[in-house]
Amino acid sequence: FNVPKAVNEPVKAYAPGSVERERVLAAYKEMWNTQIDVPLYIGAEEIRTGNTRTMSAPHDHQHIVGTYHLAEKKHIDQAIATALEARKKWAAMSWENRAAIFLKAAELIAGPYRAKINAATMIAQSKTIHQAEIDASCELIDFLRFNVEYMAQIYKEQPQSDSSTWNRVEHRPLEGFVYAITPFNFTAIAANLPASAAMMGNVVVWKPSDSQIFSAKVIIDIFKEAGVPDGVINVVYGDPIMITETVLASPDFAGVHFTGSTHVFKDIWAKIGANIHSYKTYPRIVGETGGKDFIIAHPSANVKQVVTGITRGAFEFQGQKCSAASRVYIPQSLWPAVKNQLEIDVNSMKMGSPEDMSNFITAVIHEGSFDKLASYIDQAKKDADAEIILGGNYDKSKGYFIEPTVIVTTNPKYTTMETELFGPVVTIYVYEDAKWSETLELVDATSEYALTGAVFSQCRYAVEEAVIALQNAAGNFYINDKPTGAVVGNQPFGGARASGTNDKAGSMLNLLRWVSPRTIKETF
Ligand code: GLU
Repeated sequence: FNVPKAVNEPVKAYAPGSVERERVLAAYKEMWNTQIDVPLYIGAEEIRTGNTRTMSAPHDHQHIVGTYHLAEKKHIDQAIATALEARKKWAAMSWENRAAIFLKAAELIAGPYRAKINAATMIAQSKTIHQAEIDASCELIDFLRFNVEYMAQIYKEQPQSDSSTWNRVEHRPLEGFVYAITPFNFTAIAANLPASAAMMGNVVVWKPSDSQIFSAKVIIDIFKEAGVPDGVINVVYGDPIMITETVLASPDFAGVHFTGSTHVFKDIWAKIGANIHSYKTYPRIVGETGGKDFIIAHPSANVKQVVTGITRGAFEFQGQKCSAASRVYIPQSLWPAVKNQLEIDVNSMKMGSPEDMSNFITAVIHEGSFDKLASYIDQAKKDADAEIILGGNYDKSKGYFIEPTVIVTTNPKYTTMETELFGPVVTIYVYEDAKWSETLELVDATSEYALTGAVFSQCRYAVEEAVIALQNAAGNFYINDKPTGAVVGNQPFGGARASGTNDKAGSMLNLLRWVSPRTIKETF
């Protein structure tokens, strides 16, 4: 069989007066005014435990959009048992049928559910329409389409045989179940982590982030409508430690597909290590974690390009991307022009509700994040080696709003040059032009992370030097572009060092982590 050739879903513009803008605003209004109640999804059952938490909109935190039900330990055990039961049929199902289900899910998102999944992402994750569109619609559709294409290639690829021997490889699903732990910041990642493992014939227990359950519910409905059978993806929420410990205690735990913070991932890794004697197979451990992503400009760089790289890289989706630009190195000769352009661009950014589509930035995800960011900003106001040149105000009276903030530091190891903040705060260090090579070394040595980074330069020698000097500093490296916005099928995404296992989301490499091949040799 040939599967349809994967093509990237075009990004819609949502221009004033366009049909797509009207549709998404209508979906937004309807969802804003309807309370949803999200149960646990275990097999065919929707379980309402009665122990609930509310979901609200970060840009209007008193507005409740729904509730969700918290699991107890017995529900996690039930989810595991249900997944293993579903595995009997799902793992044996032909890959063409699995492919068809996920291709149908992609078409449901591209068409009838586009407005709804974007609106859900705007409401409860506070994404602007553009950020919702490139994530919840385009990236998710791309993950599904491209993964189906990669999956087909994996199954077709076979070793050599000859007239007396026939060699073949079966790419079997893992023997057990996969645990997907997903973040709030990308609806696409939340859906892809369970879906990519399931696509390869695995059954999944999925724990979405508490802050993403609103759009996770839309994903579950789409997967069900597309034909994902009951029990293949089971969805649970609740105390994360209890859920993870229960999952990892199961002898059938066969792998974890994770996106989230570095320390949680390391804890999970350690717990898996502590339980290693109890598992039937060595679990697959796949994770994308933090970032402290850089932009370095060479004296030859184009100032407008650099500033666009900073403002879009640091402030789109309020900087809540693992890939967000958060430490920037500018040569002294360019600094006056960069500063001037930054002032113009940052001052023109509007902040407010995503419902007003002229807003460029909205609220950060929750109070915990807001308070943490505010404390770093307050500290920078006091520190002698830091100066806030733009933004620096915050207000949580209605929503968790933090102004896009630019800190300039004279200390290249200043806290906010090293620590991941996950918010709309970027720190700039101005270096002496003559110290370009030393600054490249500094960029490499400053962070434990290695997710994304960008060099801006019109000089090709400098580009080459940066590519070599920073070869281990980023899993996604950009030349004259912002370090965010990787597109599936174009820039496979992931980082190393403390940023993750670098099994590139939306790639064949990633899908291969969810199979356990059997080689069969037959002699005639
Ligand atoms: N893939 C996203 C990007 O390239 C970032 C994903 C993340 O934040 O985890 O911007």
